Amino acid sequence: MSIYEEVEFEDLDYDPSTQVYTYPCPCGDKFSISLEELWDGEDIATCPSCTLRIEVIYDEEDLPPLRDDDDDDQSEGETEGGTVKKEGQGEEKEEEEVDQGLSAMTQKSLVVN
Ligand SMILES: [Zn+2]
Repeated sequence: MSIYEEVEFEDLDYDPSTQVYTYPCPCGDKFSISLEELWDGEDIATCPSCTLRIEVIYDEEDLPPLRDDDDDDQSEGETEGGTVKKEGQGEEKEEEEVDQGLSAMTQKSLVVN
């Protein structure tokens, strides 16, 4: 269970479609570790064709955001917060417009009278 090599996160190859990081293995295959595993704190990438493994050196702040259910929940929360703000701003604008409309009508009626 020894580590073949320690590899900097930046040196890994990333496939955005599968969200898997790979690194060439001397056996001709590739070490692989998924982004989800990295977020879970896993830092050991294994090779499917041999027993070698590498340790990935990384900080969580270097990781791109995960696309999964948890991420969707966060997006919904952000959207709800934004909607509340927009509704509040909309109401304020409507009130201003109504006030201006009333005062304009009042001025007109005063002129007519
Ligand atoms: Zn290998």
